[in-house]
Amino acid sequence: LSFKDLGVCSELCVACEKLGFIKPTSIQCKSIPHSLNKKDLIALAVTGSGKTAAFVIPILQHLLITPTSLYALIMTPTRELAIQISEQCEALGAFIGLKTAVLVGGLDLMQQAIALSKKPHIVIGTPGRVADHLQNTKGFNLNSICFLVLDEADKLLNMDFGKEIDLIVSACPQERTTFLFSATMTNKVQKLQRACLKRDAIKIH
Ligand code: AMP
Repeated sequence: LSFKDLGVCSELCVACEKLGFIKPTSIQCKSIPHSLNKKDLIALAVTGSGKTAAFVIPILQHLLITPTSLYALIMTPTRELAIQISEQCEALGAFIGLKTAVLVGGLDLMQQAIALSKKPHIVIGTPGRVADHLQNTKGFNLNSICFLVLDEADKLLNMDFGKEIDLIVSACPQERTTFLFSATMTNKVQKLQRACLKRDAIKIH
């Protein structure tokens, strides 16, 4: 199977090739046909499986059709992971000049507010800091979000980010596509699934 076989557009196939992604990984094969159709997904996936590209590629393909700022929000448990995801988004989206903003703790709030004012296409962040910006950064809201990704959901919940996640999810439009990725399927993750994903979400493992 190739990326093209999964329904990935030619521009993105070229972008993948440039990064050395010649064949899609297993999680990419199983998820991309559904996510390109804007289906909600719940996927068991560990780091190293190619999960980041699995959620970034469909977001970029929809963004190509409707170029919009603040189009997608990706929540992740750590600063390092947020930075890696942003790098992968910008590498795959370089051909459209994709802009991202990284909202994580321990870095300057004002610089992040400036990055938000430049109308990034994708925001990647950790729950505490995204919630902080939602409450305190003038003009920042999630009204235009079409894709919400909850990455490493088990870790997001283990780190006691539950309250912030609730605030962030309820600030996103109901009419959206949600992807939940987790290394383990705990009770807390299933509760998050029921709260955030559509009933007909596709399960992938
Ligand atoms: P992740 O699971 O998202 O942390 O990805 C692990 C690594 O695999 C990253 O360094 C990606 O750049 C790389 N990667 C993702 N998809 C592919 C692919 N289809 N072929 C080769 N490498 C890939």
